Amino acid sequence: MATGTYCTSQGARSIQVFQCVYYWGYSLRDFVPLSPFIYLYPMIDRQTIDRILDAAQIVDVIQEFVPLKKRGVNYLGLCPFHNEKTPSFTVSPSKEIFKCFGCGKVGNAVNFIMEHEHLNYPDALKYLAKKYHIDVVEKELTQDEIEKQNERESLLVLSAYAARQFTENLFSSDEGISVGLSYFRERGFRQNTLKKFEIGYSFEKRDALSKKALEDGYKKDFLVKTGLSIEHDDHIFDRFSGRVMFPIHSLSGQVIGFGGRVLKTDAKTAKYLNSPESEIYHKSRILYGIFQARKTITQEDKVYLVEGYTDVMALHEANIENVVASSGTSLTQEQVRLIKRFTPNITILYDGDAAGIKASLRGIDIVLEEGMNVKIVLLPDSEDPDSYSKKVSNEEFLRYLKENETDFIRFKTQLLMEEASNDPVKKANLIRDIVRSIAVIPETITRTVYIKECSVHLDIQEAVLYHEVNKMRQQRSFQDRNRYPVPDDLPVPPPVIQTQVKQETPTAFSEREIIRLLLKFGSTEFQRHINPEDGMEEIITVSDYIVRDITSDNLVFDDPVFGGIFDEFRFASGQGTFIEDMHFVKHADPVISRLAADLLSEPHTLSRIFAAKQTYVETEDMKLRDMVPDALLKFKSDKIKIRLKVIMSQLEEAVKSGDKEMILELQKRDQNLKYALRAISEKLGKRIIL
Ligand SMILES: [Zn+2]
Repeated sequence: MATGTYCTSQGARSIQVFQCVYYWGYSLRDFVPLSPFIYLYPMIDRQTIDRILDAAQIVDVIQEFVPLKKRGVNYLGLCPFHNEKTPSFTVSPSKEIFKCFGCGKVGNAVNFIMEHEHLNYPDALKYLAKKYHIDVVEKELTQDEIEKQNERESLLVLSAYAARQFTENLFSSDEGISVGLSYFRERGFRQNTLKKFEIGYSFEKRDALSKKALEDGYKKDFLVKTGLSIEHDDHIFDRFSGRVMFPIHSLSGQVIGFGGRVLKTDAKTAKYLNSPESEIYHKSRILYGIFQARKTITQEDKVYLVEGYTDVMALHEANIENVVASSGTSLTQEQVRLIKRFTPNITILYDGDAAGIKASLRGIDIVLEEGMNVKIVLLPDSEDPDSYSKKVSNEEFLRYLKENETDFIRFKTQLLMEEASNDPVKKANLIRDIVRSIAVIPETITRTVYIKECSVHLDIQEAVLYHEVNKMRQQRSFQDRNRYPVPDDLPVPPPVIQTQVKQETPTAFSEREIIRLLLKFGSTEFQRHINPEDGMEEIITVSDYIVRDITSDNLVFDDPVFGGIFDEFRFASGQGTFIEDMHFVKHADPVISRLAADLLSEPHTLSRIFAAKQTYVETEDMKLRDMVPDALLKFKSDKIKIRLKVIMSQLEEAVKSGDKEMILELQKRDQNLKYALRAISEKLGKRIIL
């Protein structure tokens, strides 16, 4: 695979895509689920690019240039790229894209900066890096660094492989079923929840995974670097043997690390074990469940924070999907910022243990500091989110959360007051503690409200509290100034030369529609059926359906970019996981990210294919049942038409050379294809003109 070269021109890019497509078409897909689009830029390493893309909040970025007003879930403003009097420039914070319905400009935050500031891709990234205080080291990639990037990809491939092995162990091996699966069943977890989180099992045998992975061609070096294996005296062992496995997903759904829970009660090792920090896994930057929660967090404009993996899963089963876990440690600034990209509202669920709660209160200042609204729910005595959500009905659980939500500062004041009651020294400490929490809140109005309220609860004059808060803020701002160096001025940007000319293939439109359906509705439920093997109900997503249909007919995409995207979906579907649209919107290749943004923002593209049917009057979601099969039929009919043309010219050749056998054979094929085409056109409900 051509990963050693970096490509800056379109020409080089398309060559690379073709090589990758070729590679994909002829390799064991299961072993090499590499993204077909790997681009190396000379200046910025992949890890930094990811950090920049994760940090960039589109509304925040665009608002610096265009005044935006909130309209429903989106923001609206006057387009900076064309002259207009009524705003048609739309920014979607949940999709992280902008689109102008006047001039058609579309893209993500990086694309916006490229267009608006006339910067090339690396420079646009550097611009955003400055904005979000992310260090970018500017230099040519050394051979070492190129290897490091390749290494990162390899670690991701291996982690995906391991996750797949673990799920297979859990569901299809005797040991996995009797030890692992029975543990989850006893605790009342449903099969589809286990699949949703890709839960697995690591065999008791000390080197089961390591050995299998080596046999399957994975390098020992990478096994050790992902932390899946431990090397000792030239032997390698599994880190997680005899544990149920919780894969930790990146924001775009890649497996980057694992948590493993030991099941034996007499085990001498830690109950929970996590992957060590690696090139791909940084504990402080990710939250368990964020991938599965992302969409609902935006919809509900709120996130619940719990402690453990099974708490997250339990809340999903109680129909609360906007939940993430801190995995037992206090939140880091990077984690808070990750949440803040989706919502400013966080509700923390606490188990009813006063000592534990008090210990974690200090950690919450970091959340306040980011300007988030923090609420607390205290669960009933000796219950955790997992146990309590299973004890009561879903409705009761949700009602409990809503009724018991308390504002954080109020909660903290009450909790500490109970204890300090008549001890003046303790009370002074308590006041200082609460003042510290109020002082970190960036919003003046919010601070004022809290000061007023605490003045009543603590029985202390407002003026005294103001004085203390301001004193503390001055100290902090001094510290802050020393923390971040003032960024230098931006260099003068070189002009952007647009050289992209896209060659459309005859099937481009129907291929595009299929990719659009995958991006927009890939993870939507399409149909259910009972699996005859285990009698379990199976949910078929739109993406599963499309992948199965196209694969069973052995159809291939003509457009290499569409084909590459389809392959990523095919791989995910084979694994039983989803690809989120954001994976492509945030793609490292600006051509892909722009395409994804474009497809996701198309409101009524149906009209072109389906105008003749006149049946699409409802929203797309409601019409998926027709749209998906129709789009597939349209794709097939396009393919058949191309094949018919080929046969026609072969037939001419055969007639010229008088090859009677060939003529008969080709006529037969021609007949069959025309018959298939007629059948399709009947299904589509209109005549397809040959
Ligand atoms: Zn415009």
